[in-house]
Amino acid sequence: MNPSFDVIVIGSGIGGLVTATQLAAKGAQVLVLESYLIPGGSSGYFERQGYRFDVGASMIFGFGEKGTTNLLTRALDAVNVSQETIIDPVQIHYHLPNELDLKVERVYEKFLQNLIAYFRHEETGIRRFYDECWKVFNCLNSMDLLSLEEPRYLLRTFWQHPLSCLGLVKYLPQNVGDVARRYIKDPELLKFIDMECYCWSVVSADMTPMINAGMVFSDRHYGGVNYPKGGVGQIA
Ligand SMILES: Cc1cc2nc3c(=O)[nH]c(=O)nc-3n(C[C@H](O)[C@H](O)[C@H](O)COP(=O)(O)OP(=O)(O)OC[C@H]3O[C@@H](n4cnc5c(N)ncnc54)[C@H](O)[C@@H]3O)c2cc1C
Repeated sequence: MNPSFDVIVIGSGIGGLVTATQLAAKGAQVLVLESYLIPGGSSGYFERQGYRFDVGASMIFGFGEKGTTNLLTRALDAVNVSQETIIDPVQIHYHLPNELDLKVERVYEKFLQNLIAYFRHEETGIRRFYDECWKVFNCLNSMDLLSLEEPRYLLRTFWQHPLSCLGLVKYLPQNVGDVARRYIKDPELLKFIDMECYCWSVVSADMTPMINAGMVFSDRHYGGVNYPKGGVGQIA
């Protein structure tokens, strides 16, 4: 037999698997090749002495139930699979200098209250900054999130959601540092926002695009962080 495939995906990390399953769901014959022992890549797992450990990713976005940012839920739906998850009530618990001990609660207002408790004089600025992140998120969350390199997708999205697209265009050249300084003066609080950026974009607020921050700083309160029951390797 000489098997033939429409697509061969090399690598069974989350990227390869999502690509493969979406193509298979649309009827393509797909072959996934993996050089390691098990699938999953950086979202895989390993076992030691009866315990299962995540290889890498453990703070999982994309398992929300609503909107368009729940990419993992929708990718699994497309192939009639569901994954039970456990809600993470706190995304990050910061232990920072000057006894800044702060939980980023899933409930937005609770998180704001935690932060405002340390910076009462900046309450208005804090609310304005994080609310600005929501404006970015609301634009993203109103459209299907596909590849920005696909001209037909871009054209269709602009046609369907012109206001959201124009909203995003406004934020494209902006970085988090500039937006934060517009509302916040306290250097300690600006350092905290820097730290918020480092935690997931591994660069400072000045180097973090506002579009990315809008997604992460808001989706953690919208779709939330949800841990797959049985470990991250379950997704693969
Ligand atoms: C320590 C760590 C912590 C992380 N924490 C988080 C987190 O909390 N939240 C989050 O969202 N993200 C996190 N990430 C990032 C996330 O895990 C990765 O972005 C994501 O899993 C990458 O998926 P991928 O499919 O692009 O690549 P990979 O997971 O790298 O998959 C690539 C696959 O291709 C295979 N491969 C490579 N070359 C070949 C070849 N020639 N032939 C066959 N197979 C090949 C590899 O074996 C691998 O299985 C973390 C990553 C790490 C390393």
